[in-house]
Amino acid sequence: MTFAATVITLYPEMFPGPLGVSLAGRALERGDWNLQTVQLRDFATDRHRTVDDTPAGGGAGMVLKADVLAAAVDSVGSDRPVLAMTPRGRPLDQARVRSLAAGPGVAILCGRFEGFDERLFEARPHIEQVSLGDIVLSGGEPAALALLDACIRLLPGVMGAPLSGAEESFEDGLLEYPQFTRPQEWEGRTIPEVLRSGDHAKIAAWRKARSEHDTRLRRPDLWERHSGARVQPASGARHETKETDQ
Ligand code: SAH
Repeated sequence: MTFAATVITLYPEMFPGPLGVSLAGRALERGDWNLQTVQLRDFATDRHRTVDDTPAGGGAGMVLKADVLAAAVDSVGSDRPVLAMTPRGRPLDQARVRSLAAGPGVAILCGRFEGFDERLFEARPHIEQVSLGDIVLSGGEPAALALLDACIRLLPGVMGAPLSGAEESFEDGLLEYPQFTRPQEWEGRTIPEVLRSGDHAKIAAWRKARSEHDTRLRRPDLWERHSGARVQPASGARHETKETDQ
């Protein structure tokens, strides 16, 4: 099955961009995924092809018009999830990426300027608002590229070793353990002894311990969720939130 990506944007020339090289680029050539861009401006109705207007209530910048946005979104249909990139959205996580990658594809609406007229989301409730994190980009395109990259690497046959996706950061709610490679000694620093022992059980235990330790220190938010989920596996509340959020 081909993962179908559609990107609605004022800058279609940004695509496939970085997704045209390396792993994603080869997958695109093979047809593991395909990409269609939709020029938002094509849905403007006046002769100046206007897509934006000044913010109601005043303030800096311009806001993308609801009628233009809705016409563009309607043109791609609703056979796949439709995502709008916005810092006001739900932060993207690996669970959502995994569920998107397992589906037929995704349509992504990229904002610019000050963003979208909010009535778009009221009138088209199937649009899912997604954030790349607590940062502000100049446009939704880099966020769309990141989201697509995360999905594409999970498509069947895209990553060399099928198992290399399973142990990664976030897959079990934890950060991955640190990695090392040859040479065994570099600038006087050696690779942890256990990783050179060949004892697979010991190595697995060391990795698990480091994974937990580093998550606790670096990402107390993840650690709290992880340990909470383990302590109360049957209580339901946390688990249900996670399931329905996907
Ligand atoms: N005024 C808006 C930011 C607009 S930034 C606000 O403060 O919420 C312009 C566009 O860049 C947005 O419409 C969105 O499509 C994109 N963008 C910026 N930051 C983003 C983020 N963290 N995640 C996803 N998209 C983002």
